[in-house]
Amino acid sequence: MRSSVKLGSVFGVPIGLNFSWFLTFGFVILTLALRVYPDIFPDSSTWVYWVMGVVSGVLFFASILTHEMAHSLIAKAYGIPVKGITLFIFGGVSQITKEAARPLAEFIMAFAGPATSVLLAGAFGLLWWLTGAAEDEPLPVMLEWLWLMNLFLGAFNLTPGFPLDGGRILRSILWGVTGNYRQSTHWASRIGQLMAYALMAFGFAGIIRLISFLDPVGSLWLIVLGMFLESAARQSWRQVRALEVLKAFRARDIMTREFRTSEADVSVAEALAHQPTMRGAGGVFVMEDERVVGLVQPEAFVNVKRDRWATTRVGALMTPASEVRVVGPEEDAAGIIQTMEAEELSCLPVVEGGRLLGLVNREDLGRLLMGRQDLSA
Ligand SMILES: [Zn+2]
Repeated sequence: MRSSVKLGSVFGVPIGLNFSWFLTFGFVILTLALRVYPDIFPDSSTWVYWVMGVVSGVLFFASILTHEMAHSLIAKAYGIPVKGITLFIFGGVSQITKEAARPLAEFIMAFAGPATSVLLAGAFGLLWWLTGAAEDEPLPVMLEWLWLMNLFLGAFNLTPGFPLDGGRILRSILWGVTGNYRQSTHWASRIGQLMAYALMAFGFAGIIRLISFLDPVGSLWLIVLGMFLESAARQSWRQVRALEVLKAFRARDIMTREFRTSEADVSVAEALAHQPTMRGAGGVFVMEDERVVGLVQPEAFVNVKRDRWATTRVGALMTPASEVRVVGPEEDAAGIIQTMEAEELSCLPVVEGGRLLGLVNREDLGRLLMGRQDLSA
């Protein structure tokens, strides 16, 4: 999930909005201002409904961010790098780059989100009660909607199917009891798929008017949400199997010894003219007197506009050797791909005792998986 709009960092976690989120945000505010609040107290003025809609809409998405922040902070406490939190069409997502290493860590990491939502529901509920819980005043009416929504968010996320928090909680419990990570993931994602089909069925029943309290928009929403959750459940399972395949390979088995090199003061145009396939095909070591002084990730070339090729030197794109992330020859490919994901790298040099042995490229890992899939097919 890409962030289209970056909002800054909180506790070292970058927060952003995906464009699809604006659709949801608009829909929530419209529903609140045009339907929910006018239904509750019809005698107020239009601008009051709009102000209430915007204020409670913003607080609702702040609540979702707080839920995600709980996941992210626990992940960081367990030493798992977090790329950021993104709000998108279906709510929020924490980009946690690795799975937890132990069932208890996964349990706490997953449980922190819904627990935070329930706590927020309690806080808004308390404020609602303190402000008199009146049905005809803006503030208590907004607070009531907010505690209800947070409670719903906590409860919905606790449903025990992957990729929802409840699915992760279920997996962590199964994993803790059976010790079998693979099988536990299989069960949790199967239940996740079943739940997703149930949501789609509800949506469909709403569309053909079998369920009267679901309006067409809500029904369609359920169908789309179900489709999203189904594909996410399937993907989580596929990812676990992919990592399992990659675990069988060591860096020394998959690295290439034929990597590209360039001098630092060569222009990008010159470097690419000599090596036309450089773009998108592995990293380039920058050399000085037979010595490696840095590494250019393939994306760095792609990010240079064509009219700058002549004036940009390769040295300007490189990461100095002292800052380049390296792996040892015995590291397994599952760990390597997770490091690449976490640190947004496309290639990692393999180094042993200060000596460069080779380079692992992301494409090679992809090819490895493809090859395996062909075999099993
Ligand atoms: Zn969550």
